[in-house]
Amino acid sequence: MAKVNIPSFKLNNGMEIPAVGYGTWLGLDEKMEFKIQDAPKLVEALSYAIDIGYRHIDTAHLYRVEPEIGQVVKKKIAQGVVKRDDLFIATKVWHHYHREADVETSLRASLKRLDMDYVDLVLMHWPMSISQDGVDEKIDYLETYRGLEAVLKKGLTKAIGVSNFNLEQMKRLLANCNVVPATNQIEVNLNLGQKELVEYCQSKGVLVVGFTTFGSMVPSRATPDSPEPKIDNPTMVSIAKKHGKAVTQVALRYLYQREIATIPKSLSKNRVLENASIFDFELDKEDIAQIAKFDNGYRTDIPSFWQDYSNYPFEKIANPIQGIPLSLRKWKNGANLDID
Ligand code: NDP
Repeated sequence: MAKVNIPSFKLNNGMEIPAVGYGTWLGLDEKMEFKIQDAPKLVEALSYAIDIGYRHIDTAHLYRVEPEIGQVVKKKIAQGVVKRDDLFIATKVWHHYHREADVETSLRASLKRLDMDYVDLVLMHWPMSISQDGVDEKIDYLETYRGLEAVLKKGLTKAIGVSNFNLEQMKRLLANCNVVPATNQIEVNLNLGQKELVEYCQSKGVLVVGFTTFGSMVPSRATPDSPEPKIDNPTMVSIAKKHGKAVTQVALRYLYQREIATIPKSLSKNRVLENASIFDFELDKEDIAQIAKFDNGYRTDIPSFWQDYSNYPFEKIANPIQGIPLSLRKWKNGANLDID
């Protein structure tokens, strides 16, 4: 079987985090319904990922697959493929749990679903606080962060961090926290370089973890009006050819050379392997200069249905989607605190 050897970045608390992890968000379909039917494929692909050498798994309460992840991990430990200590498992707290004490409730429920005693990292998924009924709860994210500091102290997680925080929110958080967040997980890709935010985080010892790192490049995400580079972009194809790699591998390698960890999601074994096979080549200055020109601030993931809520982190758009999709507010068993 193929194997990958994934290097790690160091977090500000001394822990190591593998530079490429496995993303587990199955996404929503055209009707904005959650693609739960893909869960068995995720189990297959994640099992394969661990077999070939992935050691970092990114999940969240929202993703509804914590039980599946727990089962795969348990099986791989029983088979002697990994030990729990070899793995870096991250989960996230959803919008409904932003009161300080609710953070612990949320994390304990994640641990129960994962069937684990601790996670390696827990993140505040977004800075907004929204009830299941779509009410803006207006809870300050500093309060939620205090809840994260508390679960760290209790040993329920080894590190804490945030996600989708903009520059201003990061500055305010760093001025008001006791524990510097280990990571800020944000959209970053060739169109959305996030130069200022990335440099700020890095200057303060906060590792940037990138999501949607292919942006709108891959066929499953490209739209008629999304900008270059697409997967067949001549500049990208020629850089990829020069290194004997795929365009998607060049995109991930570019972020690695910016010291950004990535968590690409794929249900295809070939692509799972390909996405982690980026550590045997190096982009040179000329490649980097050419790739940098694609940074035009274009965002692929725009959850505009949240844009009028307090602490929404992105620029507002003119014609937002009206109403939060039900699948992002309520899912099986409402708050879904029980095991399934
Ligand atoms: P990705 O950029 O990882 O893209 C995933 C899409 O690209 C899928 O359609 C996948 O299809 C396809 N794909 C994957 N690898 C390749 C490849 N080598 N060549 C061509 N196509 C490929 O986006 P995501 O939005 O899924 O983000 C990754 C992860 O980040 C999520 O799974 C989740 O863990 C996290 N995330 C966090 C967010 C946050 O708010 N903190 C928001 C969004 C994501 P296929 O499965 O068929 O290969």
